Amino acid sequence: MKETRSTCPYCGVGCGVIIASQDGQITGVRGDPDHPANFGRLCTKGSTLHLTAAAPVTWQARLLQPQRRDERGQAPRVIGWEAALDEAANRFANIIDRNGPDAVGFYISGQLLTEDYYVFNKLAKGLIGTNNVDTNSRLCMSSAVAGYKQTLGADAPPSCYEDIDHADLIFIVGANTAYAHPILFRRIEDAKRANPNLKLIVADPRRTETAEIADLHLPLLPGTDVALFHGLLHLLMWEGHIDHAYVQAHTTGFDALKTVVRDYDPRRVAAVCGLDEAALAQAAQWFGEAGSVLSLYCQGLNQSSSGTAKNAALINLHLATGQIGRPGAGPFSLTGQPNAMGGREVGGLANLLSAHRDLANPEHRDEVARLWGVRDVPAAPGKTAVEMFEAAADGAIKALWISCTNPAQSLPDQRTVRRALERAEYVVVQEAYATTATCAYADLLLPASTWGEKEGTVTNSERRISRVRAAVPPAGQARPDWLAVVEFARRLEQRLPQRLAGRPTLFPYQGVEDIWNEHRETTRGRDLDITGLSYALLDRHGPQQWPCPASSEGEASTSAPPDERRSFGRARLYEDGVFPTPDGRARFVAIRHEALAEPRDARYPFSLTTGRLRDHWHGMSRTGTLGRLFGHVPEPAVQLNPGDMTRRGLKDGDLVYLTSRRGSVVVPAQASEQVAPAQAFLAMHWGEEFLSGCSSTGEPLTGVNALTTSAFCPTSKQPELKHAAIKVLKA
Ligand code: SF4
Repeated sequence: MKETRSTCPYCGVGCGVIIASQDGQITGVRGDPDHPANFGRLCTKGSTLHLTAAAPVTWQARLLQPQRRDERGQAPRVIGWEAALDEAANRFANIIDRNGPDAVGFYISGQLLTEDYYVFNKLAKGLIGTNNVDTNSRLCMSSAVAGYKQTLGADAPPSCYEDIDHADLIFIVGANTAYAHPILFRRIEDAKRANPNLKLIVADPRRTETAEIADLHLPLLPGTDVALFHGLLHLLMWEGHIDHAYVQAHTTGFDALKTVVRDYDPRRVAAVCGLDEAALAQAAQWFGEAGSVLSLYCQGLNQSSSGTAKNAALINLHLATGQIGRPGAGPFSLTGQPNAMGGREVGGLANLLSAHRDLANPEHRDEVARLWGVRDVPAAPGKTAVEMFEAAADGAIKALWISCTNPAQSLPDQRTVRRALERAEYVVVQEAYATTATCAYADLLLPASTWGEKEGTVTNSERRISRVRAAVPPAGQARPDWLAVVEFARRLEQRLPQRLAGRPTLFPYQGVEDIWNEHRETTRGRDLDITGLSYALLDRHGPQQWPCPASSEGEASTSAPPDERRSFGRARLYEDGVFPTPDGRARFVAIRHEALAEPRDARYPFSLTTGRLRDHWHGMSRTGTLGRLFGHVPEPAVQLNPGDMTRRGLKDGDLVYLTSRRGSVVVPAQASEQVAPAQAFLAMHWGEEFLSGCSSTGEPLTGVNALTTSAFCPTSKQPELKHAAIKVLKA
């Protein structure tokens, strides 16, 4: 029996796991007691990982060999890896020859490891010369990225999990931590038990399991977060809770914000947000009087057509009260996926470059071109997630490479997504599971190794980098994602020699560690400098937070642990009040509350909100293989307020049509006191096996995202998955 330390592949908490294996089979999993994210704990998803990797499940659900379709709609046939990669390189090269580099796009995933992400980014932006590489992290974290950059100057969450133990007030907004980040929620419960004076405020349209333990629940109307934050700031100003010394010394733009916030008086804010004025005053009082305030937030802020504004307005509150840069305080964006953060670090989004560089900055493009040894990195912005599929639906993008994600289920406005997949000339799907909806559209299927079978690193919500290790060999002929990409890239190099600038190859890697070391070097001197973070150091001392630069002698500091288990032994981000902006000051952003992209109206009188279940992950390709994970919620149901059910003559289990401007699905109704009147909640996980329906023009469509809108935040381009206007009719 062998034990291997690794990391849970599900959420952004990034819990450490110890995998037991025997004779090449995973036989068990337990929490790693030495990992500072979880100290040995695992939630239901993490503690059943070994069952999702067990032999019968693996062999039934996994994609085990490369396969190609001779024609769309036909069953794929098995081919060898060499033939598969030759074909992919030829098809991509031909499309690039005929239409230019922007005719291809790569849609990748926050589930990939940092090393996978790095080679995808270099393949697209370095070798091919297109910035059309984006990821499902666009659906998850791009508003948080934009919010941090607008206000603090860099995409660097300033807080860490240990802050939970030191906060006097925890303000959770747009996050059902109990379900989406269960092990972090346990830590919040522990902190409340240890400190009876710790207050918890939860702002969420639903009375979620997280709201149940709150001292104050603010059931704001969907999309009104900016008004709420401005209303709180208005009261904080009125009651004298602004830290003027901090504002004066470390920020700019407060006067402009004050002018905006003056209009957000409690009566107006209560009306806009659907809140009680007294509750608003109570929240402002607790915020203003607390010694340290920690805000935790996630998709409720991010998945919005004003996602960046919501993030910035919350950070405004922390800057105005000096609640940042010290223990127990700060605006802490919780990462949805296990490695959305690592993807941001390598610049794996259409508008970013390696090591938090910006594509729009010509110096940054030159730096990356030099580091990669290519002539240039193209300046034209790449297509973001929604834009990429719209471009494919319009015929502008002709080849798509999709890795480790399932856009035929998870992207909003499924009618457009499916049209894109049908219209694209060539679709490569690199996947661990043969069962995802996107596999049905693939011309070429490449089997990917998955958790327990691959090596690399991930970064969790608190900027902590952990090793992911292989306990067993890949199933069937599956290969690590980075290896398939590198072998494809080397073939493509022969067709695009002009991009090599005289080098024999841009991908000279012998193994995954070589990629890590190249990535580390791109971070030298940047805010996330990890030049000191070798695999050897991670192996010796365990997971580490960035920054972690090399020692002053220029060597990786493998002798002394920069951080064993705790965060506070190290310098905190922004504890000196200096921010990574040109003048060193944080910036207030004077935005106004904007209405939802699709407000409810007389024809579509319900607000549909979406969210997670406790025991499932994304489109269920892994968790859906285990019967026991359906014990908590066995089948889809739309939750409606009991008053709305009565008014419509509905009882539990009655089938209803949910209809938006884009499509309809049929689903059982369920009365829930968690849901406010004129709102409806449907979990995001249910896909084609569970929910069928059709588009507004009659084409068959499935899953929750038959209903959702692709309207997105103009700054972050993150779509408003959290809200669509619908009607509810008895079926
Ligand atoms: Fe995995 Fe997240 Fe659960 Fe931790 S909290 S075990 S990272 S799913």
